[in-house]
Amino acid sequence: MFIRLLSYLKPYAAKLSITVVAIIIYAVFSSLSIWMVGPLFNLIFYPQNMTEQAVTNPISSHPLESESDFALDLKTKINSYVNSYIITDTRLGTLYRICIGILIVFFIKNVAYYLNLYMTSLIEQSVVRDIRNELFESIANLSLDYFNKSRVGTLISRLTNDVEIVNVAIAATFLNLIKDPLLLFIYLFIALVISWKLTIISLLVSLSMVFILYRIGKFLRKQSIQSQEKMARLISAIQETISGMRVVKAFATEEYETDKFKKESTDYHGTMSKVLVFRKLSSPISEMLGILAITIVLWYGGKQVIIDGSILPNEFIVYLFALFSMMQPLKAIGGHYTRIQEGLAAGERIFDVIDTVPMIINMDNAIIADGLRESIEFKNVSFDYGEGEILKNINLTIKSGDVIALVGPSGAGKSTLASLIPRFYDPSKGEILFDGKNLKELELKSLRRLTGYVTQEVILFNNTIRNNISYGRPDVSEEEIIKSAKMANAHDFIKEFPNGYDTEIGDRGTRLSGGQQQRISIARAILNNPPILIFDEATSSLDADSEKKVQEAIERLMKNRTVIVIAHRLSTIKNADKIIVLDNGVIVQSGTHEELLKKEGLFSKLYNIQFN
Ligand code: ADP
Repeated sequence: MFIRLLSYLKPYAAKLSITVVAIIIYAVFSSLSIWMVGPLFNLIFYPQNMTEQAVTNPISSHPLESESDFALDLKTKINSYVNSYIITDTRLGTLYRICIGILIVFFIKNVAYYLNLYMTSLIEQSVVRDIRNELFESIANLSLDYFNKSRVGTLISRLTNDVEIVNVAIAATFLNLIKDPLLLFIYLFIALVISWKLTIISLLVSLSMVFILYRIGKFLRKQSIQSQEKMARLISAIQETISGMRVVKAFATEEYETDKFKKESTDYHGTMSKVLVFRKLSSPISEMLGILAITIVLWYGGKQVIIDGSILPNEFIVYLFALFSMMQPLKAIGGHYTRIQEGLAAGERIFDVIDTVPMIINMDNAIIADGLRESIEFKNVSFDYGEGEILKNINLTIKSGDVIALVGPSGAGKSTLASLIPRFYDPSKGEILFDGKNLKELELKSLRRLTGYVTQEVILFNNTIRNNISYGRPDVSEEEIIKSAKMANAHDFIKEFPNGYDTEIGDRGTRLSGGQQQRISIARAILNNPPILIFDEATSSLDADSEKKVQEAIERLMKNRTVIVIAHRLSTIKNADKIIVLDNGVIVQSGTHEELLKKEGLFSKLYNIQFN
């Protein structure tokens, strides 16, 4: 998982290497800044030792040679190197050089630090953008069954919240997982060079600290998963309430919705508080442990300075500086660890979506469908959404150019049957043949381009009328848009708007009347001119004038096409070439209007209910 997140860095390798170089420069100069404390200390507190050796390297006067030769050797080398730059004949001269040295070292250190931050932010934002785009693309490509199962808010939360959390984790990774361990390593190195015994003692204490932080991190990860799921629920609640605001107002359920929301909100608050309490706890705990380590060192090291002189005062000061400097990266690593844990959890949720394989995909060598020549044939087709069969053993032939009406009580499975034709879902049993070829062999996009879908629930986007009509076909000309609008009886009312075709219609078209929305969606279908049309007739009551206009538009739309209409209006039923009567997922009757009326059965019953 971690590797996978890091793989998003690949395109930014060049920037990343600059960052790493900057980090290394930063770390080296940080340690140099600590090393310079030694000479400064000696210069000011031990004026009598102002020989070149004594300023920083009074090793020759060590009474006890407790350090290894290697450490001694290295210490001498570093010292003589530093000394060669700062020692002059007079104390003031040396002080001057030390001051200049400090300025230069800190300047370079900070330039490197900024370069590192700058590069990291660039990389971070790019990676987040890449992940977000990939996630959106995956969501857009998922098949409908997925959306039946998941809530919109959850998906929104994946795209916003989780991507943000991953961002933080990646930031922690880039910026600090290289920097802090490196700093720690260098400081540790300084400490080891000065006294390995002291360092081992400090390390033992540090290890126990890391272990405690690890436990906290593990706990946080679990809580964080919960809190994110709860945040997703919260967003769902917001999204559902706002999009259903009309119903909320109509039923005066503001209080009910608010209470429901408050419950979710409190739930989230509970988990999040726990997460925060523990996250904040990790910082004081690690500081306390650090201080514990340092007091042990102070005691043990101080004793060596005071009693046996095996460590010199100026060395001990540098050692303490190094040790104190270690606290910051150590503490930070603890913090990164928890943040990375949270990021991994968010990454898991994101990849969960990205890795979902759409149920409906193209076969290898899928055939491009360029028209319906003979027929669409359902052969022993059954279907279920996962909870029992909705369609049972359907056998049906739809000839090219025919108008087929599907009728039956609500819930009979009419929409489900129709939605199998553009392959929104695959049958669970049986097959659908398109000019003799199994629907699954056809290339999906080409199939969907052949089928228009005008639904009862008019789906319009919050955009201009023009863009809603030309949806999916950005290159279409103005004339074509107007022509389609005219055929859909929509042109006249669109013209009446001050902004005409550029009128913004609001979320889901709420600024238009029901009839107007329908006519725009019909204009969209006319513009696309699909040879096969699936038409879910609206039952919504329109006023007589509107109804007549919509009806005319529908008749124009249905001309010269193969039409599957889920019929409620008598006129479409009358003119249909074949009427299929569905009940409980089974075809109970089929035939023309006249044939069916003559027989006793569900159709005549439904007909009588409607007209008597
Ligand atoms: P009709 O169009 O005849 O009113 P539908 O095809 O819409 O009937 O629905 C048939 C049955 O399938 C109903 O019982 C409905 O609850 C169920 N159903 C419809 N859509 C889904 C879905 N996306 N997920 C699960 N069940 C569904």
